[in-house]
Amino acid sequence: MAQQRRWILDELERKGVTRRDFVRFCGLMASVLALPKSAGAEMAKALETTKKPILVWLEFQDCAGNTESFLRAGRPTVADIILDVLSVDYHETLMAAAGHQAEANLQAVVDNHRGEYLAVVEGSIPTGANGAYCTIGGRSALDIARQVCSGAAATIAIGTCAAYGGIPAAAPNPTGALGVTDALPDLKTVVNMPACPANGENLAALVVYYLAYNRWPPLDHYRRPLFAYGKSIHDNCERRAHYDAGQYVEQWGDGGHRKGYCLYKVGCKGPVTFQNCPNVGWNEGTNWPIGCGHPCIGCAEPDFWDKMTPFYAHLGGIPGFGIHSDIDRIGLWATAGVGAAFAAHGLVQIGRSMADKRSAAAEDKGDPS
Ligand code: SF4
Ligand code: SF4
Repeated sequence: MAQQRRWILDELERKGVTRRDFVRFCGLMASVLALPKSAGAEMAKALETTKKPILVWLEFQDCAGNTESFLRAGRPTVADIILDVLSVDYHETLMAAAGHQAEANLQAVVDNHRGEYLAVVEGSIPTGANGAYCTIGGRSALDIARQVCSGAAATIAIGTCAAYGGIPAAAPNPTGALGVTDALPDLKTVVNMPACPANGENLAALVVYYLAYNRWPPLDHYRRPLFAYGKSIHDNCERRAHYDAGQYVEQWGDGGHRKGYCLYKVGCKGPVTFQNCPNVGWNEGTNWPIGCGHPCIGCAEPDFWDKMTPFYAHLGGIPGFGIHSDIDRIGLWATAGVGAAFAAHGLVQIGRSMADKRSAAAEDKGDPS
């Protein structure tokens, strides 16, 4: 154990990350996970003694935006620490190997570490034309995902494309693009981390939690971790007081826009979008889209892209929602969309309590799922 402890701390120190930085990092992850401060020290202790886990990162119909987001994760060392804690054996954008050598690395992980490695999938999986729209090394994305994910201890579908199909699945969806859980419905160990792109700090927190506790944190009915997707953007928005007071931006650059009024009328999808952007922020927590004066475009929802566009047309006519619920009447889909989202949020609460019960029961049995 002492050797294991030396291993991770030595590796981190070689990269200029001190033990203090590491403990501070774990404290930050605890706050992203909405856990008490003491959980940071607990996770640091668990990580110090954990075996270096293997990770393979598959990219299919994607733009590599989630990879970029993760590598640019702020609060220095987030990506460094995670990449040092993990052994990334296959990642098309990051690895030096190419061609047959790269594919051999992937095959070696699948053959020699069944049930041990973590798989991350970025991008949607095309199912049309027998998978011919996306092939790597002569194999279809579907075939690769089936083989790699079914042998993994767990799979993370990172970004909206991997979670739900995303932009490639927008109508008319010419490639038959699907998210991982739809393409591989028998796969039971998937966690969805939607958004376009997913927030690197949420991914880091998810991985840290998994490594420290050997199970996923509580999930909602879309298999999203509740720490990141349990509340709507609207619930935590800094402009919420303006929404409640009926103070809206009517046009870009008007007085209301300059005063930081609510962006609902110019298309904000925050009321139907669930993610922790207002709390975690972007660019080292410097700011986030609504903080910069741009509406939320609903990038983390299953309905993105088709039902969240046009981005600058607002949702309106929401019965019983806020004191100015009748500020406008827009298309029927908008009301239906909001209703569905809030029904889903109800399910989230049910999912939360079920997930909590499930994880308590699993804890009793020592089950890592
Ligand atoms: S509608 Fe958008 S800008 Fe307005 S309070 Fe809700 S999330 Fe914030
Ligand atoms: S504010 Fe909305 S559109 Fe922007 S990143 Fe967060 S969920 Fe996505």
